[in-house]
Amino acid sequence: MTKRVCVIPGDDAAPEAVLPALGVLKAMELDIEYVELPSGEEGQARHGERWAQVCREAIDSCDTTLFGSTSGKTPALGYLRWQKGTYANLRPVKYIAGAKSPLAHPEGIDFVIVRENMEDMYVGVEGELDVLKPLGLVNRLTRRPIPEEGGRFALKVITEENTRRIAEFACRLALRRKAEGKPGRLTVACKYNMLPQSDGLFRRVASEVAKAYPEVEYEDYIVDDFARRIVASPHDLDVVLLPNLYGDILSDEASALVGGLGVAPSACYSDDFAYFEPVHGTAPDIVGKRIINPTATLLSAAMMLEHLGLREEASALERAVAAVYAEGRVLTPDQGGTATSDEFCAAVRQKLG
Ligand code: ATP
Repeated sequence: MTKRVCVIPGDDAAPEAVLPALGVLKAMELDIEYVELPSGEEGQARHGERWAQVCREAIDSCDTTLFGSTSGKTPALGYLRWQKGTYANLRPVKYIAGAKSPLAHPEGIDFVIVRENMEDMYVGVEGELDVLKPLGLVNRLTRRPIPEEGGRFALKVITEENTRRIAEFACRLALRRKAEGKPGRLTVACKYNMLPQSDGLFRRVASEVAKAYPEVEYEDYIVDDFARRIVASPHDLDVVLLPNLYGDILSDEASALVGGLGVAPSACYSDDFAYFEPVHGTAPDIVGKRIINPTATLLSAAMMLEHLGLREEASALERAVAAVYAEGRVLTPDQGGTATSDEFCAAVRQKLG
């Protein structure tokens, strides 16, 4: 049956990656109908007040969504993430031979960050300190009262239910990877020593869940130590489970090992919906130059094809991207080349035959 994919190019430089990447997908002549939305600016101009609704309706009319990135002009991310409840953000970190890594031996780096996508500091509750006054809170370490004014606070929320759900997701992923010959190791990192209530809960629940998966090897680290380990021994990692904020930060760090944000794909899953987007933002500093690296979008699209049951096609797309890197002739400036985004995608199309 024909699948329907909603394509949302997003804002700033993101459409310069999404549109040529879509050209590659179309050239694959798959049984997919693409529902294409305009860029954020165009959408605002064309649809005005209705723009957010247009996005929602397009998303709901499709099986899945390929999303560029937004700086606010495309009002779709809140719907895709919060309203659709896409609680698991998968961010593969896999070295493609020929990509520009700062490491002497990046070959063989192949792990996946599973970022909890719903809570932690991203519940968006911040405010003036005087709001906390009635609670009479004290600093756990100094035992002094929290100042009543002269600053702001941010709330971090970790729930047992969401942690259990994301830990189950990560364990199932580790099992699947083990079946493919990978280590089947789950690594959890958070600041459980300083934050025994919140991150402590995350670690406790994750380790409890992992006990039900005896085939999965479990380990955990304090997150600052883990930030070092990502750089020092990335080859040891397989599936890495992180609360939302650490996941956001450390996945940017991890991407640097294998070529940077230009090559970092991601997928966000709920139990019955998924959407796909590069890890990077809208790269406003290079807008209009047509040099944004579409690899992250193409690899996100490959994850999308796999989600749609097009496994062979997903592998073919990944192989075509890898072939362009292996050759090293048509790469974008972030990878040390001089090619434009369109030229890079044309090279991928050629490899696809
Ligand atoms: P966000 O907060 O939305 O994640 P950001 O402000 O952190 O976004 P990005 O838009 O991801 O930042 O860009 C960070 C830097 O990486 C910028 O210099 C940008 O040009 C560069 N960059 C991001 N994505 C790509 C890409 N696909 N190709 C080349 N350079 C990129």
